[in-house]
Amino acid sequence: MREGSHVIVLPFPAQGHITPMSQFCKRLVSKGLKITLILVSDKPSPPYRTEHDLITVVPISNGFQEDEEQSQDLDDYMERVETSIKTRLPKLIEDMKLSGNPPRALVYDSTMPWLLDVAHSSGLRGAVFFTQPWLVSTIYYHVNKGSFSVPSTRHDHSALASFPSFPMLNSYDLPSFLRESSSYPNILRIVIDQLSNIDRVDIVLCNTFDKLEEKLLKWVQSLWPVLNIGPTVPSMYLDKRLTEDKNYGFSLFDANVAKCIEWLDSKQPSSVVYVSLGSLVILKEDQMMELAAGLKQSGYFFLWVVRDTEKNKLPRNWSPQLEVLRHESIGCFLTHCGWNSMLEGLSLGVPMIGMPHWADQPTNGKFMEDVWKVGVRVKADVDGFVRSEEIVKRVGEVMEGEKGKEIRKNAEKWKLLTLEAVSEGGRSDKSINEFVSMFC
Ligand code: UDP
Repeated sequence: MREGSHVIVLPFPAQGHITPMSQFCKRLVSKGLKITLILVSDKPSPPYRTEHDLITVVPISNGFQEDEEQSQDLDDYMERVETSIKTRLPKLIEDMKLSGNPPRALVYDSTMPWLLDVAHSSGLRGAVFFTQPWLVSTIYYHVNKGSFSVPSTRHDHSALASFPSFPMLNSYDLPSFLRESSSYPNILRIVIDQLSNIDRVDIVLCNTFDKLEEKLLKWVQSLWPVLNIGPTVPSMYLDKRLTEDKNYGFSLFDANVAKCIEWLDSKQPSSVVYVSLGSLVILKEDQMMELAAGLKQSGYFFLWVVRDTEKNKLPRNWSPQLEVLRHESIGCFLTHCGWNSMLEGLSLGVPMIGMPHWADQPTNGKFMEDVWKVGVRVKADVDGFVRSEEIVKRVGEVMEGEKGKEIRKNAEKWKLLTLEAVSEGGRSDKSINEFVSMFC
């Protein structure tokens, strides 16, 4: 490898994007690349180094002054971030070149497609990184191309969408922004725009693995230079013999590791329901109470992560999710079906109960239940409310009974396939090698 091969990585500032992209950085470093990880931040701070000096973290302003109140308006926020990055990044790249450490590529988050032109105008190759699966990106692609029109009825349960290599999807299985387009017009535009310039992108990276989306792979690879490099779950969590750095990501939250694990250690194998709805989902108070009632009535021990923002509803917490999921006391994972959580559950062979809320979660949940068959989804009323009886029923279904056994068997199969993909010589490992070799 050429001495000093250097790549910049720039995730969108949300946990579900920072985690997989920072993990990808670690994989690249382990293959010998030098990485600058740019983190969009509301607090200006000096660059620092990590991973044996091979990852340099450079915080970059999100465009708000330190004492300025941050806008809740997404358009305003995105515009500030874009202006700030467009002003600062070219200068940063020039400085890197002058200091003898020229970057060769910019790996950027798919939600910021304008970064492709920033890369090209600075003489770098542009590699887009999708933190969502192809299942979801291809739906957005069809919408962007106008080859799929979004249903206007919000609660249409009839089968309505058929995509190549997909099971039939009804409106509840689509990414929520499509069926609730009037509620989130700005987010809808951002997610659809992700694929707006994909035909010009030099390398397309996706946090998935070939076997997981096998049917779609041929099609996306016929269109774009695709490399599936996931799941970016650290290998030490997949195989206890591996001893990679324990600090598995750059977290926006602090986790109380010792307290969680100590409590789990006191429980029997496969006896605990782990409940986490990720970093963004906000449940209404009555839904929180209903979920709590269902978990209590189910009669199982449960570990439920409730974020700081929800503190008025229940006590504060954030868990070391991977440590928890691989603990032998965990019997199932009640998840909001965020893509990282799905990959983590799948990688660790944990049966799941999907309680999708919004974004790509309904689509991920559909595949989890009907295609990979590693769990079940809760059924909501027409207004989206999930009753406690439904929680009790689904927890029982997965923790015990015939269906639970089948799910466990499938979960074990997917765990092995995941390990195979990321192990040396596996498909995702080869894709990472291919990416690295482009800069040798
Ligand atoms: N996570 C965690 N502790 C928690 C909850 C979540 O470490 O208590 C991590 C989780 O392991 C995952 C990420 O936060 O890597 C959440 O990403 P996901 O795509 O699942 O959901 P999002 O937060 O984007 O909705």
